[in-house]
Amino acid sequence: MPNCRPCRAPHTRGGRFTVIDPATGEAFDDAPDQQPGELDAVVGRAHEAWRSWRTDPAARVTALLAAADAVEAAGAGLAPLLTREQGKPLAESYAEIARTAARLRHFAEPAPGPRPITDGRPVRSEIRWRSLGPVAAIVPWNFPLQLASAKFAPALAAGNTVVLKPSPFTPLATRLLASVVSAALPEGVLTVVTGREPLGSRLASHPGIRHVTFTGSVPTGRAVAEGAAASLARVTLELGGNDAAILLDDVEVERIAERLFWAAFRNCGQVCMAVKRVYAPARLCSSVAEALAQYAKSAVVGAGLDPGTRLGPVNNAAQLARVEHLTAQALADGGRPVAGGHRLDRPGYFFAPTILADVPSDSPVVTEEQFGPVLPVLPYGSLDEAVEAANDTCYGLGGSVWGTDVDRAEAVADRLECGTAWINHHAELSLAQPFAGVKESGVGVAGGPWGLYGNLRPFVVHRPREV
Ligand code: NAD
Repeated sequence: MPNCRPCRAPHTRGGRFTVIDPATGEAFDDAPDQQPGELDAVVGRAHEAWRSWRTDPAARVTALLAAADAVEAAGAGLAPLLTREQGKPLAESYAEIARTAARLRHFAEPAPGPRPITDGRPVRSEIRWRSLGPVAAIVPWNFPLQLASAKFAPALAAGNTVVLKPSPFTPLATRLLASVVSAALPEGVLTVVTGREPLGSRLASHPGIRHVTFTGSVPTGRAVAEGAAASLARVTLELGGNDAAILLDDVEVERIAERLFWAAFRNCGQVCMAVKRVYAPARLCSSVAEALAQYAKSAVVGAGLDPGTRLGPVNNAAQLARVEHLTAQALADGGRPVAGGHRLDRPGYFFAPTILADVPSDSPVVTEEQFGPVLPVLPYGSLDEAVEAANDTCYGLGGSVWGTDVDRAEAVADRLECGTAWINHHAELSLAQPFAGVKESGVGVAGGPWGLYGNLRPFVVHRPREV
């Protein structure tokens, strides 16, 4: 079935849905198609498990450390499965697993202890941090394991239990990961549910859920927030981005081109905070596009399991269709492909790495999130124009500024309206930093202590000082 184009929802058979290998476009396995009616029992068990899980912080630290070791030990089983269903090169799957284990270790710390409030009043007040209860974690298909751990590691460390729902495009490695992690945890503390919609929306609006932590697109994030409003559960949303990279007039194009290329094309461009638009001074624009095109033309594109592959397929048929559509629209709008610009003539969801020049600033490939291997390079006149164009979006995840004078680049970066800005690189995150999008890129803060506190509630006790 070469170039098979399944509909957006995976097919089902016998209570299971098929999982497609994006490198072939063919089904290679299936996963349980769980129904929303099962959620009452799943959330009920998560609530039951929470009663004891929340009481012993030291046991939680031990369990999370054991889980991290187990994830590393399971790498050789997890990585090929992740590559098979997601498409990414095998080395990137191993990197994702290493990051997953690192995240578990990062959060394997004692929960915050009681903290006195000193405001001069004659009472002794104290904040005691309490867990929330069962947390619903809903994640997308681009980094299924890493993003799942970004949800469950801080939630579990805080004393909550978790019901995790992966994307139907990538259920298999998540199920395996959860079985590995769960072996180190008491029963019911971490549960995976797989299935098609409305499983996610019912989970988000389930009355037994006390925190919905979601990563995905802006429209789905909006629906999740509406669903969670029914029970007024806490909501954390990590949503899409349309990150701009601004190149300054002192940039050394040849020196930064490779780094800039991979900041846009890693994981086939399917990264929330990938570089999605490049702004270059008008006189440098064609040399920037040409330099990026050299990397686009020479990058080895292929199945993630093939040794030597640097760029895999797009994950699914609907996403490939979107990338094709945005590129065709950009070309119809007057854009010019300096590299690529088309699907590859082979089975699977492959799109040639594409660098576009002469694209009007209002073409959808510039104004919307392409989430694929296509990058427009746009000219600017003054720096003010560049900053204004970079900020002229409903998104606000990240941004970067590239130049030789780092202080000047940092001053420009300071003007970007986003959660994280980088100088001379892009999309590198520390586990210890706060991660928060502004505007429509997100609600709430993940990462570091902020991620932990996002899973806790303050409980305050006042008592007379003299007692
Ligand atoms: P998506 O919004 O389509 O799906 C995300 C998850 O939500 C999946 O598990 C999906 O099955 C589920 N879902 C679908 N409809 C739902 C509903 N009505 N209620 C509850 N859950 C529902 O996103 P996607 O296509 O899987 O992922 C790509 C998007 O994710 C991009 O926009 C990307 O930028 C974003 N993303 C953001 C971050 C971040 O940290 N900000 C990280 C990775 C990806």
